[in-house]
Amino acid sequence: MSQARSKVKELFHRLTGSTAIGYRLDDLVNQLWTISNELSEIKSVLRTTRMLTEANSTNMNSNTYAVFYGTGSFMQANLERAISEGLVPLCFIDNDKTSQKKIINSSTGMSFEIISLHEALKRFPTADIYIMLEQNMLLNITKLLIEHGVNKERIKYLQKVEYRLGCSQLGSLIIYSDNYKEYTTCCSPRYRTYWKSSGDFVQDSIEYTENVTKLIADINEKKPNKCSECSMIHEALWSCVIKCKMLMLPSIHRRDYCNFKCIYCGSWKDNVIKQHMDISAWDVFKAFVSNELVKDVRYNSYEITASPHCDEMLELWKQKRIVGEILTNASIFKNGIAELLRENLITLNCSLDAGTPETFAKIKGVDCFWDVVDNLRKYSASSRDRMRLKYIILPGINDNDADMDGFISIALEIVNENFVFYAHNFNTQITEQEVEATVKFINKCKNAGINPKPNEVTYSVSELDMLKKRLSKSTK
Ligand code: SF4
Ligand code: SF4
Repeated sequence: MSQARSKVKELFHRLTGSTAIGYRLDDLVNQLWTISNELSEIKSVLRTTRMLTEANSTNMNSNTYAVFYGTGSFMQANLERAISEGLVPLCFIDNDKTSQKKIINSSTGMSFEIISLHEALKRFPTADIYIMLEQNMLLNITKLLIEHGVNKERIKYLQKVEYRLGCSQLGSLIIYSDNYKEYTTCCSPRYRTYWKSSGDFVQDSIEYTENVTKLIADINEKKPNKCSECSMIHEALWSCVIKCKMLMLPSIHRRDYCNFKCIYCGSWKDNVIKQHMDISAWDVFKAFVSNELVKDVRYNSYEITASPHCDEMLELWKQKRIVGEILTNASIFKNGIAELLRENLITLNCSLDAGTPETFAKIKGVDCFWDVVDNLRKYSASSRDRMRLKYIILPGINDNDADMDGFISIALEIVNENFVFYAHNFNTQITEQEVEATVKFINKCKNAGINPKPNEVTYSVSELDMLKKRLSKSTK
């Protein structure tokens, strides 16, 4: 206000040559102050009106303009599809302040602003809001929007949902196991239900819908079933469409090959060689993707770039516009992967686990740290936004300063601050030493401006809780 006051004084002096603006100065400043506030409101209304006018005029092409809630991996995986189906974002909501004011670019050349929920409700008070988050977030965000006065009718989802017992993986994910002789629902080895594969993957996908629909009915009618014992089952908003939309090809088949020998992985212990594959991840991928049975693939079957079918697989991926994720050890650079990154079709996830060549060689069994880092740099040049880096905490191996600091400086160069993950080694119990190392890693990342996240499937709920508590103690 005092700045405004001296500016008015200066203006008055320039216009009249007099400094005797007198007693009306405060009135004048107050009025100008009000006008300036009104102007910024008008600017905001004009912006909204312009966007809605554009929206109306483009409605001729039956486009639906809406606010999109969520900026994470689900949104990234589904944005292009949503746009191609006629949904056009007015803006994106993210309540994380570090993400606000950033811009999201779509492959169609459009750019969208990320703003807070409060700002979005102010700018677009009547627009529909699409929740662009994983199924397990739908209920909480729906409640949050209602608490903020959003009418239920304005809250939309990418597909029809219902309130019932379910879990985030049940009804959309298909995973093959036991060398593709059977398929199952989820990553929970203890409680998941298996069904025999017919050997014909198209037939399996049809039977999947029938089998899982029956399982969901049994769960909700409290008939005997294995899921009811699982801690993941809970009442929430789940999709009504039961269909394997996502194919996961994890490293559990002992049929695909990897060129590394990570100390925490069993793949290489089976001595599978490249040529020795009867049914491989490629066969399943080809069947599901060529027949358009899935639109989303998480590929983690040993090392994709070491597969003799890698190039064909990446070509089919691009042709069919599959979205998803590729996990790679990044030892072999593939143009096809860089292209999928550039086309916003995949995120690339690499578990680097070390910050020095010596520790890397000890963990991975191969001495090629700088080759991997160089390849990650090249992938990052294709799409930094889609890069994910992971650090599996291995007490006594990578919990020293040199490795953590080395990893963090590479992460700062290669990925965005929200896409660094830490994980627990599945094969071991979490120990006090690991808890300490994890807290140390998180604090080091935070000091460097990185906001690391847990790779949640590797921790139990109580382990995550314990880490949270230890973290808050360590920062007091
Ligand atoms: S409830 Fe548990 S066992 Fe059932 S599908 Fe979900 S994660 Fe798997
Ligand atoms: S790179 Fe992945 S698949 Fe290969 S040995 Fe390591 S963990 Fe296993």
